[in-house]
Amino acid sequence: MAKDVKCGVNTCFYWKHGNHCGAKNILVEVYSPDERAHSSSHTGCHTFRPKEEF
Ligand code: SF4
Repeated sequence: MAKDVKCGVNTCFYWKHGNHCGAKNILVEVYSPDERAHSSSHTGCHTFRPKEEF
């Protein structure tokens, strides 16, 4: 289990200075449900919320 999630997506509501994720937990999934991930570029954080949404 990850204890410290580092993230560079600074447009996310949960993003904190120092590239820390402030969410209680996150969900990472394959971009396309019909495909399998073969590299990190095929995955993405579904917990992401744009800052302006809040
Ligand atoms: S929720 Fe996802 S995108 Fe947002 S800061 Fe955390 S890891 Fe990054």
